[in-house]
Amino acid sequence: MVAKRQRGKKGREPAAPSPESVKKEKEKAKALKASVWWQNQLEKGECYYCGQNFAKKDLTMDHIVPVSRGGKSTRGNVVVACKPCNSDKKYYTAAELILKNQMNSKINF
Ligand SMILES: [Zn+2]
Repeated sequence: MVAKRQRGKKGREPAAPSPESVKKEKEKAKALKASVWWQNQLEKGECYYCGQNFAKKDLTMDHIVPVSRGGKSTRGNVVVACKPCNSDKKYYTAAELILKNQMNSKINF
């Protein structure tokens, strides 16, 4: 007696993506990194988060909405981030990070 529940997923919030889709997005990220568009982003050398300039080798691809949270490897969801910003970010989304920075700057005396 197996109840099939293939339908009825509509209207639900996108929860954790399946391992397959995470893998797929990571593959797509790899392809995107090889694109001319991405190379141009790196040429600009500016970190999306701190706005500072870096050498190409110090820049990484960062997902605004992390793949682990259902983010896609599309031009609209990936940005150039320096290594310190990328590692500092960990699992925060860009929006959360901006908020965090704003709060920190207000707290500083
Ligand atoms: Zn940065």
